[in-house]
Amino acid sequence: MLNKLMSLINGLEERDLNNGLTENDINELGFILIRNSEILGYYGMAIAGAFMANKELVNRDNVPMIIVDDIFYELSDNCKAFIIGHELGHFMKHEQQTEGYVRKINDEFEADEYGAELVGTQSAVFALEEMEDKLIELYDDLCKDSIDELELRINKLLGKEMVTC
Ligand SMILES: [Zn+2]
Repeated sequence: MLNKLMSLINGLEERDLNNGLTENDINELGFILIRNSEILGYYGMAIAGAFMANKELVNRDNVPMIIVDDIFYELSDNCKAFIIGHELGHFMKHEQQTEGYVRKINDEFEADEYGAELVGTQSAVFALEEMEDKLIELYDDLCKDSIDELELRINKLLGKEMVTC
């Protein structure tokens, strides 16, 4: 299942994702994957986002839309698969929002849990660590909040006590 997902995602990369997926791609993947760095930057997100803000736009035909940026394609297959699983988790577990998007850490934990069911807990932890390393490599100190959040998410998956400060 995981290998099939990855060969599909990587196969799509070879074509121009912005130039459209065929209906077949969507049926096989079960979601629409869009590569667009600008829109993620606009929402203050890096790597990937589930497009849930506008019900009309997003869930036309009930197909989840996942947006990924260029960084996504620099990550390992394991990390890509976890990210897709995480974003699908948002679709499965969370209400669509018609008002402004507010990021809640509990939503992230739940989406991580969903992603971990797809790749396994240990691989999910590796994926979060890989994202952390990538963000540090690219942005250094600029993304301290994101790094702190990734640490919380790793600890949550590992079932460690949360430290509040
Ligand atoms: Zn998320």
